[in-house]
Amino acid sequence: MDMKGMEHAVEVETLTVAYDAKPVLWDVNLKVPKGTLMAVVGPNGAGKTTLIKAMLGLLTPVTGAICFSGGKGDGHALKNRIGYVPQSGSVDWDFPATVQDVVLMGCYGKLGWFRRPRKADYELTAQMLKKVGMEQYASRQISQLSGGQQQRVFLARALAQEAEIYFMDEPFKGVDAQTEKAIVLLLKELKEQGKTVMVVHHDLQTVADYFDWVTLINLRVIASGPVEEVFHEENLKMAYRSTGALLRSVV
Ligand code: ADP
Repeated sequence: MDMKGMEHAVEVETLTVAYDAKPVLWDVNLKVPKGTLMAVVGPNGAGKTTLIKAMLGLLTPVTGAICFSGGKGDGHALKNRIGYVPQSGSVDWDFPATVQDVVLMGCYGKLGWFRRPRKADYELTAQMLKKVGMEQYASRQISQLSGGQQQRVFLARALAQEAEIYFMDEPFKGVDAQTEKAIVLLLKELKEQGKTVMVVHHDLQTVADYFDWVTLINLRVIASGPVEEVFHEENLKMAYRSTGALLRSVV
C-alpha cells in the first residue's frame, strides 16, 4: 500500500506513558491512516489498553502528543467524533441501567446530554441492538449480562454515536465464533463507510484474515503498517519472543 499522500485520522508523537513512575509505553510514534481497519496486537501486558486509553485522553502521558485530524472546535465536538468500546469487565455497571439506556447514551453523545430521547433515538437504538444481535435484551439490566453480551451492547452504543473514529478494546472477548464473525462484518462495514477503526485484538489469524493495517507493540512500537508487511517472523519474534503455532499460522 502506498503510504505517501495518505491522510491520517490520528497521529501519536513521542508518547511515553508510566504507571507509578514505571514506564509501560516508550516513545510511541504512530500514524493511523484514515479509513483503515487497524489492529493493535502484542502479548499480554504489552501496553495495548494503555495505548488506546492514552490516545483517548483517559491517561496523562509523561511526554508526547496525540493529534486528531481536523481537530478544531471544542472538546465536546471532538469527543463526539470518537467512539470507544472499552474492554468488557473494565467498567462497573453496578448501577440500574437497561441495555436500551446504555445504547441511548450513544445517541445523547451526539446531540448533548440534557434532553429527552426522541423517537429517532429509540429507532436508532433498536436498529443498533439488532445489528449486534441483542435486540431481545433491550429491557434487561446491563449488570445481568455476560461479559460478551455487555461487549456487544457497548458496540451498539458506539455505533449509535455515529462517530468518525472508533477505538475498541478486545471487542471479541467472550463472544462465540458466530458473533465474532458478525462483529468482523460490522467493523468492515464501518471501514466501508470511510470510518477509521482501531481494535485491540489478540488473535493474529483473525487480524491477518480481516484487517488491513496492524500495529505490533511490546512496550514500544515494533512495527506498524499493512498487515502483510508487519507480520514477518522477525517482527513477531521481537514482540512475542517465541515462534509458536500461533505465529506459524500467519507467517
Ligand atoms: P495489554 O493491554 O497489552 O495487556 P496493558 O496496557 O493493560 O497491556 O498493561 C501494560 C502494563 O501496564 C502491564 O505491565 C500492566 O500490569 C501495567 N498496568 C496496566 N494498568 C495499570 C495500572 N492502572 N496501574 C499500574 N500498572 C498498570
